[in-house]
Amino acid sequence: MERGAEARTAANEATFREINEAIERGQWPGEEHEPVGFRCECAQLGCNQLLELTIAEYEDIRAHPRRFLVSPGHVRPSLEVVVGTRPEYVVVEKRGEAGEVAEETDPRR
Ligand SMILES: [Zn+2]
Repeated sequence: MERGAEARTAANEATFREINEAIERGQWPGEEHEPVGFRCECAQLGCNQLLELTIAEYEDIRAHPRRFLVSPGHVRPSLEVVVGTRPEYVVVEKRGEAGEVAEETDPRR
């Protein structure tokens, strides 16, 4: 993939990460172990799939700036490697330039 396009894709995914941060902030204290509908953070335009996981599970992913939550089947092997698989969702880690953009755009940095 051409480098500019790769960076734009990563920026798109960073937008969904910010949406999920807002979803997480909307939860009440004590609901850390209740399933919550998070947005798929994949690079597909128009993807609006919801994935159910707990706040605690999402926090495990967000502890790494290069890791994203995606639906099974929405993995882009040219940009990311799978680091965790559950029946409901997949955790991917960005490589190369996509990984650098993911770190630069991490809202918790
Ligand atoms: Zn998706």
